[in-house]
Parts: sequence; C-alpha cells; structure tokens
Amino acid sequence: MKTGYVYLTGAGPGDPKLLTIKALESIKESDVIIYDRLVNEEILKECKEGAELIYAGKFPKNHTLRQEQIHALLGEKAKEGKIVTRLKGGDPFVFGRGGEEAVYLRERGIPFEIIPGVTAGIAAPAYAGIPVTHRDFGGTFAVVTGHYSKQRKKEMWEALAKGIDTVIFYMGMSELREITAMLIKYGKDRETPAAVIEWGTTEKQKTVATTLCNLADEVKKNGLKNPAIVIVGEVVQLHNHIPWFQKEGIVL
Ligand code: SAH
Repeated sequence: MKTGYVYLTGAGPGDPKLLTIKALESIKESDVIIYDRLVNEEILKECKEGAELIYAGKFPKNHTLRQEQIHALLGEKAKEGKIVTRLKGGDPFVFGRGGEEAVYLRERGIPFEIIPGVTAGIAAPAYAGIPVTHRDFGGTFAVVTGHYSKQRKKEMWEALAKGIDTVIFYMGMSELREITAMLIKYGKDRETPAAVIEWGTTEKQKTVATTLCNLADEVKKNGLKNPAIVIVGEVVQLHNHIPWFQKEGIVL
C-alpha cells in the first residue's frame, strides 16, 4: 500500500504573495488540503484540480475535540495514500498547534514535513511600518499569547514589563484591557508607544497606534477586532516614519 505524506504548511499572515515557494509547491501537489479560518482563500485557488478542500473550522468548538478530529483526519487521509497539506495561517509552529500534529504523525509513522511561514506577529507590524527590532529602540522581542492573561504568573508580567523591549501579543484582543493594565502594573511606562494592527498585510489592514495606557480605549473607540496583533514598545513610534503599505485607515 502506498503511504501518504503530510505537509504542515504555513500560509503566511494574509497577503497571498507572502506564501513561500515551498508552501505553494505543497499546495499544488496535494490531494487533500485541510485549512484554517485565517488562510486567505486566494491561496486555495492554487490547489490542483479535483483536490479535496476541508475547512478545519467546521469541527466542534471544543478545542480538544476539534484538535483530535484534525489529527484523526490527517492520519486517515495519509493512510489512504494521499498527499495532504495541513494549511495554517502564519507559521505552523507559532500558536498554530503544528507541534501537536507533528508529534501525532511521528508516533504513527506517517512521513511529514514542516514548511515554516511568515508569522503575523512580525509581518503585521512590518506592514504597519513597525520593525520588531531596531538598534535604537529595541534589541529584544517576545511573542506571547493573550489567552489566559489573568492566570499568568507575576514573573511573566515582570519579565515582559521590565526585561523585554518589544512585546507582541497574538490573540490579545479579548483581554486587551487586562494585558495593558498588567504591563503598567509590573513596570512598563504607561506612555510606552503601543499599537494594534487588525487584518495585517491585507487590504483590510487597520492600525491604531497610541500609548500603552490609552490603547484599550482607542481600540474600542475605533472598533478594531480580531484577527489582530498587539505590539508594545519604543519601536512602535517608527510607524510614523515608515508608512509604506497602509496609506489609509486609522493611524493616530
Ligand atoms: N500561526 C499564526 C498564529 C495563529 S494564532 C501565525 O504564525 O501568524 C491566531 C492569531 O494570530 C490571531 O488571533 C491574531 O492575533 C494573529 N493573526 C493572524 N493573522 C493575522 C493578521 N493578518 N493580522 C493580525 N493578526 C493576525
């Protein structure tokens, strides 16, 4: 029996042209593509004729169950001898559960390959004119999930507030007020430049750039929602000097 093959592929942050050549090749070659919500539909048009496209978001809301079903589906399709692309927004290993899928495949002896992607936490700021590092404004950056902010240890907040120049939150919108308050509480200057970038790298991109203490209010006032990246640090002030992509929209 022919064994299948799985590509765990990053689709990039939104702009379809940020897809890597390897990612494009995996999409063109695959019999089955299992894709996530944030994957730009333009990219799916690159699949071969007759390829089966499966939206992973149709599985149950319960995250554990959904992940189990995706694992099972990957295994099932590969065992049928199919070439499968598991297509994820951004990079598959940055808050993408790609690590769990790779372990699952490895344990079952299913051959696979990881294709890294351009991650939203770096690309969305770049399209908003914000470099995540800069010799004068920031030599360290951290990426953090905004989920469970309330349960995080004070050591994490202290480290982010005092030890890291640029802090980037994924999935930070629902707990934005909490996040900004904790950073200030643990020592980040309330006037630190901070921004939220919604639908980064796409035509719908919108940015709100202000100070840490005003961020939650400004974001609410301007109606920015998910998907969005929250970025805090002196580098954010550069957005005024490098407005190369987003010529319109809200830039405070
Ligand atoms: N693996 C992805 C991240 C998945 S987690 C990556 O590497 O980019 C999903 C979160 O990513 C969203 O809640 C949002 O915070 C962020 N995100 C993904 N695409 C985005 C985009 N185009 N603009 C802004 N944020 C984005």
